[in-house]
Amino acid sequence: MASQQPEFEHPRKAFGWAARDTSGFLSPFNFSRRETGEKDVAFKVLYCGICHSDLHMVKNEWGNAIYPMVPGHEVAGVVTEVGSKVQKYKVGDKVGVGCMVESCRTCQNCVEDLENYCPKNIFTYGAKFIDGTITYGGYSDSMVVDEHFVIRIPEALPLDAAAPLLCAGITVYSPLRYYGLDKPGLHVGVVGLGGLGHMAVKFAKAFGAKVTVISTSPNKKDEAINILGADSFLLSRDQDQIQAAMETLDGIIDTVSAVHPLVSLIGLLKSHGKLVMVGGPEKPLELPIFPLLKGRKIVAGSLIGGLKETQEMINFAAKHNVKPEIEVIAIDYVNTAMERLAKADVKYRFVIDIGNTLKPTS
Ligand code: NAP
Ligand code: ZN
Repeated sequence: MASQQPEFEHPRKAFGWAARDTSGFLSPFNFSRRETGEKDVAFKVLYCGICHSDLHMVKNEWGNAIYPMVPGHEVAGVVTEVGSKVQKYKVGDKVGVGCMVESCRTCQNCVEDLENYCPKNIFTYGAKFIDGTITYGGYSDSMVVDEHFVIRIPEALPLDAAAPLLCAGITVYSPLRYYGLDKPGLHVGVVGLGGLGHMAVKFAKAFGAKVTVISTSPNKKDEAINILGADSFLLSRDQDQIQAAMETLDGIIDTVSAVHPLVSLIGLLKSHGKLVMVGGPEKPLELPIFPLLKGRKIVAGSLIGGLKETQEMINFAAKHNVKPEIEVIAIDYVNTAMERLAKADVKYRFVIDIGNTLKPTS
């Protein structure tokens, strides 16, 4: 199986856009999907968000790329077929898939609904599946995924706005909850106002926190406060602003995608404050120790979330009207969108309109 061409290794024809090398340039790609297994849900992809991880991955910035690569792990669509043993879904249901399509199901992490920390979990694209074939993501017309890894999208959420919740949403919701930054009255900082950052602002506000955005982009200030609902805005490169806010934050969610200094962020924390890293810069960051010692401060990390928590997050988002700000694009704009994402020029998540713009080549 694994040695066959992507177009013929499975019985079901599929079409998407793939990167072929470290240029990251995406172009049309014919491949195939497996038959709907007894526990599988097959669905038509209608929307797919563009995560900065897609950009890191197509350019092999994390060093583990497998080409051709069809990115996309913020996938939303409608069920077209279900296997005979599928219990949760039926044809016509609105569903989504995030970053994972399989895990071992038996390790302690899996047993505790933390499939995201299973050492054997399999990512939605660019990973080797259990049958030896390579996984392809949501910049494509269809997906076939075991129902355990499928999320139900609540009726109240439009599919285009639901898509970014499946990675950006859960990646910030999970650490806000786990690190106890979900309490009314706490003061939470959000570093980097991109896809993840703007969702962190919205979820932290929905939890009742006071929110300060810490950003390199002065042009995001008005929207951060007036549209996203942040309480204040600090320009990270303005030392006067940073100095004036020292020791005011209970916790920080750092979503920055590039190497950046941590010393001033640690300084912004109160004693016992937590700096939670969720961004994935391609190189290690420098961690200054003395600022941590003074005040028993914590630096921590978090990776997406388990399936149970992802469903909880999306239900919470529907109930509290927490929706991403999106720019919906056609598939043939995807390379330009990637260039803009590299320059932090997106407010605040690109979502590809797959259903209306992805057309198969013959
Ligand atoms: P994004 O939309 O590009 O947002 C990143 C933001 O970081 C930018 O908008 C910018 O905000 C800030 N930034 C960029 N370059 C910077 C620099 N050199 N110095 C300081 N700030 C800079 O990206 P995203 O999709 O939110 O993803 C953010 C990071 O999280 C990526 O590395 C991604 O791979 C990672 N990620 C991690 C997980 C996880 O599970 N932990 C899940 C998904 C994504 P300002 O303009 O406000 O400064
Ligand atoms: Zn992502």
